[in-house]
Amino acid sequence: MISVERPLAILSALAEEQVGLVEQLHGAQRQTHAGREFWSGTLQGLPVVLALSRIGKVAAATTTAALIAHFQAGAIVFTGVAGGVGRRVQVGDVVVGTGYVQHDMDASPLFPRYEIPLTGQSVIQADATLARALVFAAVVGLQGMQHAGRPATVHQGLIASGDRFVNGADETHAIVSGLQSRGYEALAVEMEGAAVAQVCHDYGVPFAAVRTISDRADDSAHVDFPVFVREVASVYAQRIVAELLRTLAV
Ligand code: SAH
Repeated sequence: MISVERPLAILSALAEEQVGLVEQLHGAQRQTHAGREFWSGTLQGLPVVLALSRIGKVAAATTTAALIAHFQAGAIVFTGVAGGVGRRVQVGDVVVGTGYVQHDMDASPLFPRYEIPLTGQSVIQADATLARALVFAAVVGLQGMQHAGRPATVHQGLIASGDRFVNGADETHAIVSGLQSRGYEALAVEMEGAAVAQVCHDYGVPFAAVRTISDRADDSAHVDFPVFVREVASVYAQRIVAELLRTLAV
């Protein structure tokens, strides 16, 4: 079960992905740690800490370690955007990560491609309870929401992270087919999830992520990115987080 005694951390990469949440915080307290801002308080009566990971795996790992070791986070939820690479995963859909892999991890031939050295693991699983709660929160919270005339569809599956903004059809194909050759079917690519998952796994802290699909990781991936994050993804994130907290509070 998810502890509600220790704060639930809500983590995003970019400030635009988390707009609205800090404003809703009760008893908000700002602290700076490791050059980052952390906001503690309560949302719907539950203790939370809000943070921005910044972009990329190392930045996300640093923020995650601080959330756990310094802010005593009892569980971590990531909300943000990602590129859709699963066949049916379209812009405006939502992906809940049930597993996380680093698509740029390659210590072969010393270790198998994708394996995190010395762990024997390539995919780190989300906390099953938290992932289920996020799927439920997304389905309920996004009821009636549409993007470009298409209702928001909620998917669940593998998220692939790497230190690269993927914006080319060839690059996407290389990532997806490389993972497929090892039996992994990625639904989305982004730049933080697998790093957060690895740190949470090491500390034994439950983790799951929900990502709104901002692009198809193809040649038009950069188009209207900021507008989409502001007008669609941040709204979805607020609705999903509100619903998640309602579920956890009961
Ligand atoms: N253009 C943006 C930078 C975005 S970096 C800016 O100027 O602020 C992309 C962020 O969105 C990362 O946090 C990453 O996790 C996510 N993301 C969205 N689409 C992505 C894609 N196609 N490839 C990799 N990361 C993506």
